[in-house]
Amino acid sequence: MKAKADAKSKRYDVLRSMLEDRRQEIHEKLRTLRETLPAEIAEVKDAEEQSVADFVQEIDFTLMQMKSETLAKIDDALRRVEDGSYGTCADCLGPIAEARLKALPFADLCRDCQEAQELRVAEARASEARLPPSELTPLG
Ligand SMILES: [Zn+2]
Repeated sequence: MKAKADAKSKRYDVLRSMLEDRRQEIHEKLRTLRETLPAEIAEVKDAEEQSVADFVQEIDFTLMQMKSETLAKIDDALRRVEDGSYGTCADCLGPIAEARLKALPFADLCRDCQEAQELRVAEARASEARLPPSELTPLG
């Protein structure tokens, strides 16, 4: 149906520009961080310089990771628009609420499934925390 195809391509365009904005935003943040931090390092005393440099590298790495994860989500959302599965929960295959998609353009789970998943993650973390520390062999 033509009307449906139009709606789909409109949605694709809206989503695409939203995601492009997001991509741009991430890019800007990374650039700003790179420009700002070296100036701050220059003011740091020599002895502390190395640890600060390490710290910056760590932040940089974390940001790069966040960036690639977000970009992967962006690509995934666009792919789902293309294959028609966008807006469908990947878990229960139910529709994802429009309001949710507006707030979270890359959502691939409905709210219920997302909450269930977060609960599972939280439970997994809690049970990890309950594990006894690895056994240490006492020395001599
Ligand atoms: Zn679901």
